Amino acid sequence: MLASPNPVATTAMPKPVRSPLDPSQIQYSSKKQQQAVADIVEQLTLDASTLKGIKDHFVQEMRKGLAKDGETIAMVPSYVLDRLNGTEIGSYLTLDVGGTYIRVVSVNLLGHGQVVSQHKKYKIDEELKTSEAKLLFVDEHAIVVPLETELELGFTFSFPVKQTGIDSGTLITWTKGFSCPHMVGKDPAAFLQDAFHRKNIPVRVAALLNDTVGTLLAYEYHHPSTVIGLGLGTGCNGAYLERVERIPKWKRDPSDPQGEEVIVNMEFGAFDSERQVLPVTMFDNKVDRKSMNTGKQIFEKMIAGMYLGEITRNVLLHLADRRLLFSDCSVQWEMNRVWAFDTAYMSTIEADNSPSLKATQMVLESTLGFGSELDAGRQRVDSSMATTLVDREIVKMVVQLVGQRAARLAAAALAGILEHTMGVTWQEDTGASIGVDGSLYRYYPSFRSDILDGLDAIFGLEPKMKGLCRGESGEAKIRMGLNTEGGGAGAALCALMAGRQKVMEV
Ligand code: ADP
Ligand code: MG
Repeated sequence: MLASPNPVATTAMPKPVRSPLDPSQIQYSSKKQQQAVADIVEQLTLDASTLKGIKDHFVQEMRKGLAKDGETIAMVPSYVLDRLNGTEIGSYLTLDVGGTYIRVVSVNLLGHGQVVSQHKKYKIDEELKTSEAKLLFVDEHAIVVPLETELELGFTFSFPVKQTGIDSGTLITWTKGFSCPHMVGKDPAAFLQDAFHRKNIPVRVAALLNDTVGTLLAYEYHHPSTVIGLGLGTGCNGAYLERVERIPKWKRDPSDPQGEEVIVNMEFGAFDSERQVLPVTMFDNKVDRKSMNTGKQIFEKMIAGMYLGEITRNVLLHLADRRLLFSDCSVQWEMNRVWAFDTAYMSTIEADNSPSLKATQMVLESTLGFGSELDAGRQRVDSSMATTLVDREIVKMVVQLVGQRAARLAAAALAGILEHTMGVTWQEDTGASIGVDGSLYRYYPSFRSDILDGLDAIFGLEPKMKGLCRGESGEAKIRMGLNTEGGGAGAALCALMAGRQKVMEV
């Protein structure tokens, strides 16, 4: 039943296939159209000094969050103390509630990065995201496992939680389109434990963690130099290794487990909700207004998978409404529907290097209904409204701009974390590794290289960081890779760390 031994693969992403479109090469049909595209390019392009300004503010906000509760970036100590030693071995069950999926994984840690796991993945129904169900993820997706002995479970819950221990915490707020108000302020781990009791399932919730904490642990299992876990999926967030003495707000009893370092779940998607430094455009404001948490998580809304397609849709409609894109926008397109432009389409368009942009045409015409329209009986019939090559080039241009801006903003956050921790939890000569998880990073063709370009751009303005990322010669000191193991190993490692703390307490 189990897959063959599958080490926590940490392979580098394939080389990006994109050949970037240059706006000056598009054969615009009018000066007005050209001007409109130039205006979009200007709004969505972030130069090195803007990125550096964002990074500087990010570092300040990190420090504020470490000093005091209730700051914009929550900076939540995860209670995962100290580092792995590579010898971690054991069998665990893990449950991961992300923004789009629930994943149940049975994990066998075999030591030194070797993991055998068995996954099950469910899509979360839209109604469930806002339901009053007792515990939406368990009641709907009961895990039926015949168990004779109690299994320990690592519960990955990827929403802002104030941890009160390695296995407990309280939900601060919902994000990513979820809203079950009765759970705010409550402990999701206790809810889950209750549900197991009710169903007589012999599982003990041993750890409650954010997905980024799990990503850091899973990557560290393989790469001991890991100091950051980054999540780029439905939402975006990061966790990093911090020295306990640098977290003034974290008061604990002497009887609590002690350690010198702790993983901090940053909850950085909330960064700059005050909009002091982020160059928020009208397209972002439209996304924000249609979202469940208007005014909040602005940084996340400019970066994460849930939102990038919608930003792109807003830009395209802005051009179409001014009759500068697509021949007719009066018909009932699928494109008129909020959230209709999935971020996954952007990956297809980014990867489309065919001279006629065929894949882009497929997305627009077969999927989004261009070139056909709905008749009175809501049947699709051909219309004259097919896309032109210039239309498709402009679409690709917009996709590139929105994707690249997102990756560069993620780079500003990473640069901030790296600057804050350099010489503290990692040293310049040995460097640092960053483990990344999430479909956006995994599937979006140029995301990784755009992040690295962004880091290079920022570090180019910081004498002490210059060349650390993709230096002209020698090995890169900042290494970034995909955590391909899918989340289970990190939660299992967290459950194991919880067990270690218990032993220490006794
Ligand atoms: P979760 O956030 O639940 O852990 P994922 O990491 O799979 O789940 O992220 C899901 C998000 O990734 C969705 O917002 C979706 O739009 C985006 N996504 C899925 N496939 C792709 C793709 N091929 N390219 C870019 N983004 C994608
Ligand atoms: Mg996830």
